[in-house]
Amino acid sequence: MQIFKEKEALQTAVRELKSQGKTLGLVPTMGALHDGHLSLVQNAEKICDQVVVSIFVNPTQFNNPQDLEKYPRGLQKDIELLKTLNPNLWVFAPTAQELYGENIISEEFDFGGLGKVMEGKYRAGHFDGVGTVVKLLFEIVKPSKAFFGQKDFQQLQIIRKLTKDEKLPVEVIGCPILREPNGLARSSRNELLEPEERESASFIHQTLLKSRDLFGTKSVNYITDWVYAQFESHPFLKLEYFEIADASTLKKINRKRKGQEYRAFIAAYAGEVRLIDNMALN
Ligand code: AMP
Repeated sequence: MQIFKEKEALQTAVRELKSQGKTLGLVPTMGALHDGHLSLVQNAEKICDQVVVSIFVNPTQFNNPQDLEKYPRGLQKDIELLKTLNPNLWVFAPTAQELYGENIISEEFDFGGLGKVMEGKYRAGHFDGVGTVVKLLFEIVKPSKAFFGQKDFQQLQIIRKLTKDEKLPVEVIGCPILREPNGLARSSRNELLEPEERESASFIHQTLLKSRDLFGTKSVNYITDWVYAQFESHPFLKLEYFEIADASTLKKINRKRKGQEYRAFIAAYAGEVRLIDNMALN
């Protein structure tokens, strides 16, 4: 396995790879790897000759300094895990200075409506940080394809927009959500949950499933009220938002229209840990 800490060494390897006519896929991550990340790597391996996994906890996308401090890290463990998957993978694990240079700040983007709702509303500046780091990674690594999870569906749509607006020559590929046996979406943050919180957080998934069932027969308002009421009486979980939105514009809807795709989105706290999840409704 090749581990690159410096962008120049990686760029040399990428040039060599491309001179052989081979394709490169990028899987950007913040480490503390789990099966969800590994599934992205496996998707990438199916259609790219070489896969590079970037591991970098991006400071500019954290709007809360305690969240950044608490975020789980373990590069050595991540490398061992990736080795068991495929010893030919490349890892890019730069420092913030290596990636950003002296100024570790976000560029400001206009993601239109996509950036103003849900995560954009509750985590000010988050998507500017995401856009900045993804653009930097695309420019440095120059992959032909990049793989992102639908777990962060809003992020995926924002990266698609960024790639189009900035004419970045990368194909963005969305991959399905991997879940724990109890239905909880896999997340690095799950490691921060107490065992009983982790068990009870499966309620998020159960609520999404039930919303999907109700979507066939009930109004959006009915479902939204029902979800808020469910969380109200939950002993561990605190709902931050529940929204039913158009899957491409992410605009909240009041009424369903034929031919449109809709998704339900949840953000909730289990103790101090903020969890997000979403599900296609039709
Ligand atoms: P993160 O390390 O949390 O920034 O995630 C890195 C990538 O893995 C993002 O594209 C996420 O959407 C994706 N990802 C995280 N959790 C999952 C999951 N449970 N299933 C599928 N993809 C995931």
